[in-house]
Amino acid sequence: MGRTRYNRIGARLLVLCAAMGPTWWVAASGSGASTAEASTAGASAAVASRRAAAKITVVAAENEYGDVAAQVGGKYVTVDSVESNPNTDPHTYEVSPGVAREVASAQLVIQNGVGYDAYMSKVESASASSSRTVIVVQKLLGLPDNTANPHLWYSPKTMPIVANRLAGDLAKLQPAHAAYFKANASKFVASLKPWLDAIASFKAKYGGTKAATTEPVADYLLSAMGIDNATPFSFQADIMNGVDPSPQSISLESGFLAKHKVKLFAYNQQVVDALTTSIRNTAQNAGIPVVGVYETMPTPGYDYQSWMLAEVHAIETAVTKHTSTEHL
Ligand SMILES: [Zn+2]
Repeated sequence: MGRTRYNRIGARLLVLCAAMGPTWWVAASGSGASTAEASTAGASAAVASRRAAAKITVVAAENEYGDVAAQVGGKYVTVDSVESNPNTDPHTYEVSPGVAREVASAQLVIQNGVGYDAYMSKVESASASSSRTVIVVQKLLGLPDNTANPHLWYSPKTMPIVANRLAGDLAKLQPAHAAYFKANASKFVASLKPWLDAIASFKAKYGGTKAATTEPVADYLLSAMGIDNATPFSFQADIMNGVDPSPQSISLESGFLAKHKVKLFAYNQQVVDALTTSIRNTAQNAGIPVVGVYETMPTPGYDYQSWMLAEVHAIETAVTKHTSTEHL
């Protein structure tokens, strides 16, 4: 039997990160607003002009992608993110009718793929649209469906590619603003430098540091930092998938902490249950610093780049000062 997760409060809530731009609806229905007007060439031009001025509607499955879309699209987009609640587990997310409506009216959709947000593809096929652009980050990165770790946004390689694709796809929707989108994407990529520098600096100084984790959420980042994750992937996958790990693997995991075999414990704050809580308690009791890591971007107060930089700083603080940062 699978374990029961208790952090499901609000799992069905669609949290909108911004008010749905009413402008697009006005523009979309504008052509039918007045038959007499629409019959004249002048009115048609006015409708075309209103459409060009309207904001592009973007729906992101996860708010980290929504944040990058908002940074690249700037003043010409409205972005809604389906998953942005830091107290829910995206692996058990259940789609609401509101999401279907959002996706049905979106001009651009961005989703992770690798089965992480499979509900998006179902919602998209239920409201087929030939004019909707869909970015699947997995496909963009050329990753196979059986990619073991779906948390692609923790890899430093991912978001620059995503930002440039967003700029290209937004430019197809509003060609007049192509240079603006491209400049924003370049600015975003440049703004990742403090994070990339912090990763390189940590790796140079503390590469080979041993860590333990519950779930693989931050594994791509740990790996980029040169951290050796002692927790077997099979254990992490069991936690991710809500499967009971074997008693042997639980005792191995607890041993890393109780016997001080690792310098830090990266704890997924969004995939929690009685087992992960008890493992975290073992870390706390043994004095192993705990670093909270997240599936979705913690809000308010963070954008993608400051969130990722904060995680690196929290890990470095754990290793150098033996201090926990359980919550960002
Ligand atoms: Zn996860």
